[in-house]
Amino acid sequence: MLPDRQCIQCGEGFRHGRADKKFCSAFCRTTFHNQRYRRNQLLRQRVNQLLRRNHQILQEINPEGRTRVRREVMIQRGFNFAYITHLATVGKDKPPLRCCYDQGYYLDPNGWVELRGRKTAVTGECKDHALAALKT
Ligand SMILES: [Zn+2]
Repeated sequence: MLPDRQCIQCGEGFRHGRADKKFCSAFCRTTFHNQRYRRNQLLRQRVNQLLRRNHQILQEINPEGRTRVRREVMIQRGFNFAYITHLATVGKDKPPLRCCYDQGYYLDPNGWVELRGRKTAVTGECKDHALAALKT
């Protein structure tokens, strides 16, 4: 008898098993799922890497939490405008803030980027030192 189905992993034809069976063997099924898992893992790693780099660049450019910079300057630093974590609604009349974790920005049509983020500049004493000072 001729095979009536084709294994989606190796392409071999097969006849045995349930009508909805997709693989010729357990080996092909496992290989298929392992490859899909690895592909997804690599994709997530790449996206996470891009987001981490974008966040790092935003923190470096905008330590005070509010500034504006030319779009080209960010691209030169390696910023990738295609990757954000979310859009934040700030106000009714404002466009959504494009965010990378706690750092956000608006794109200006004239090539400026208005940065809005959490202040990351280290100013004064660290919190632990300040608390210790209060106790003494
Ligand atoms: Zn197979």
